[in-house]
Amino acid sequence: MKTASIPLHTRILLALFLGALAGLAVHSLAGEAQWTIWLTDNIAAPVGEIFLRLLLMTVVPLVFASIVLGVTGLGDVRNLGRVGGKTLVYFVASSAIAAALGIILVNLMDPGSSLDPLVRAALLEDFRDQASSMQAGSPGFGVDMLVNIVPRNPVEAAANMDMLAVIFFALVFGVALALIPRERAAPLIAVIESLGDVVIKIIEMVMRLAPYGVFALIFVVTSRFGWSLLAQLGVYVVLVLLGLTLHTVVTLSLLVKFFGGMKPLDFWRRSRAVIVTAFATSSSSATLPTSIAVAERELKVPPTLAGFVLPLGATMNMNGTAVYVGITVLFLAQVFGVDLTLGQQVVVAMLGVITAIGAAGVPGGSLPLIMVILASVGVPPEGIAIILGVDRILDMARTVTNVTGDLTAAVFLAHSETSRAGPTFENPAVENPASESPAPAADNPVSRQG
Ligand code: ASP
Repeated sequence: MKTASIPLHTRILLALFLGALAGLAVHSLAGEAQWTIWLTDNIAAPVGEIFLRLLLMTVVPLVFASIVLGVTGLGDVRNLGRVGGKTLVYFVASSAIAAALGIILVNLMDPGSSLDPLVRAALLEDFRDQASSMQAGSPGFGVDMLVNIVPRNPVEAAANMDMLAVIFFALVFGVALALIPRERAAPLIAVIESLGDVVIKIIEMVMRLAPYGVFALIFVVTSRFGWSLLAQLGVYVVLVLLGLTLHTVVTLSLLVKFFGGMKPLDFWRRSRAVIVTAFATSSSSATLPTSIAVAERELKVPPTLAGFVLPLGATMNMNGTAVYVGITVLFLAQVFGVDLTLGQQVVVAMLGVITAIGAAGVPGGSLPLIMVILASVGVPPEGIAIILGVDRILDMARTVTNVTGDLTAAVFLAHSETSRAGPTFENPAVENPASESPAPAADNPVSRQG
């Protein structure tokens, strides 16, 4: 069979499986041998990193174009208040449920008490440097975090991939564009539509490389991974995976059923390409193009809503990260013998929700913020060193929860907006035949259908 006849997401899944297998084989057969380190550092890691960067380089223009077109496509700026309000309430509520679930699980299972003090000391020593380099970049939760959402210079925000600020600018830009006379706005809207089409084309081309990139990314993780750490931190790892599974399979399915009006099984079947991409890249931002395509094509979310909700969700809605914050902060508090009162645990949950909003959608994006939370409840922030060795695997898992959570938000918005008697959500790109992109490759999970 020619590989081209296998759907792309199946090829990515195959690459994921083969890459993991190859990495595990190299790890167990050759371990620390010089050639395996060379192979990983000079071939696999750069290939994986280049693939991630190719996706990430599209994120700023994609988010800008999607949000501006999303806002202008809402028909009337007053709709923005309603849709934006519902979106934010959904993000905060689902992240709060996730953070609370994490905290309840730690209290039930008390994973910190099972960690051998010798293992604790060894891990702190091994990962100390990595932890202190992360601490230097910790942003903090003060009022600054709020102020920084408003960029002083949108180009600087884009250059730093400061996505909350980029989103803010795109929202304001979209609103202003919707408020000026239609004939003045039309040329710019057409340009931004073309920008969106170009970015989608780039992503389509990049995704053809996805099987190689994914193979390399997973190979690096499995060949370098400290598998013995998994056993030492076993209870913690199992707890995180249990929390993520419960939230994903139970909470998100219930949300899809009752708020999204969709059968959960259908939802999960149609979301496969997103799950695989999120797992392989550990990045909500790198998964965004696939999320938008799947929402429009598979979940039948109107393009205007998908283009509005999903870029916001990739940055501001991280249910998996919220579960992770709750479990990790309480686990490390237990390990360091810091007794947290119920009130302090509620504060951790709230900071978990803020982390879900503020963390960058990149691998390990939430770790600097977790260090700030640790410090704020009296746990040494360098304590994060204890879990750094297993973080990548847990990052892959929590990113799946993060992006599928975003999809549930899109399905909810689509259901609630289309069941209103109110506006119809046209995509300006559909009205304008000139902007229709060429026929998408049938198997490509990122190609948009207008
Ligand atoms: N890697 C996660 C994401 O991109 C963020 C994190 O929790 O570190 O969604």
